[in-house]
Amino acid sequence: MLEWLIVGGGIHGTHLALVLIQGAGVEHERIRVVDPHAEPLARWHACTANTGMAFLRSAAVHHIDLHSDALTQFAKAPAGKPFARFVEPYRRPSVDLFRAHALDVIERSGVQQCWTTDRVCGIQRINGGWQVASTAGSMEARQVVLAMGAGEQPAWPLWAQSLGMMDAPIHHVFAPALPHQSRPVASCRCCWWRYFGSPNRIGISRTATAKRDTADAPCPTQASTRQ
Ligand SMILES: Cc1cc2nc3c(=O)[nH]c(=O)nc-3n(C[C@H](O)[C@H](O)[C@H](O)COP(=O)(O)OP(=O)(O)OC[C@H]3O[C@@H](n4cnc5c(N)ncnc54)[C@H](O)[C@@H]3O)c2cc1C
Repeated sequence: MLEWLIVGGGIHGTHLALVLIQGAGVEHERIRVVDPHAEPLARWHACTANTGMAFLRSAAVHHIDLHSDALTQFAKAPAGKPFARFVEPYRRPSVDLFRAHALDVIERSGVQQCWTTDRVCGIQRINGGWQVASTAGSMEARQVVLAMGAGEQPAWPLWAQSLGMMDAPIHHVFAPALPHQSRPVASCRCCWWRYFGSPNRIGISRTATAKRDTADAPCPTQASTRQ
């Protein structure tokens, strides 16, 4: 029986695996991270690529490593220097630096030794732990952590669904990959929706980073779609 089974290898699941391996000294073979993607942080990479964002919203102390200054130290090391860019406020690191640091941490910790590419589809209590069903079989673990994120349950408000039915080029930022031409062209100040697309054919997508990056535009909840 495994000691720990982590469902989801995104930011949180990967960080937890690191805490167990490096912080608590749990051996790799007693931990399993189950995720449908081949590598850690796949959803994070997809979402940041979708928005084209160059810098994080969060400060340099937020990353997947154990110590708060780890990313800052990495930025001074040869592997991090080429990506060492920060912006104010809060000294936010570049997406490239965050990514390079995360890959470095993952490689050094050996998190991928705990990795299983699979999807969990059920869980039930058994004596001394849990039996977890996946598409490839089943596993038993004393402790199970659900770190599945929200990316596979995107919320589409009714107005966005209606626009989709009218063939507007509307996308959700959680989509695996937005169409290439869909770059943000405007954003709304009163909520976190962002317009995507070419100027004569504009779509809308939801993102948490919309507020500061792009020009103002009418709120899609109040204005009709421009096409
Ligand atoms: C555009 C954008 C920019 C952001 N910028 C920042 C920022 O600057 N700073 C910040 O702190 N946060 C930021 N966030 C938020 C941050 O990305 C999320 O808080 C974080 O990615 C959530 O991580 P997670 O591990 O909980 O979920 P996820 O990253 O979604 O990972 C969950 C994983 O679980 C897997 N999974 C789901 N169901 C199953 C299953 N049944 N079996 C196995 N695996 C499963 C998924 O496939 C996925 O790989 C941003 C988010 C977006 C969308």
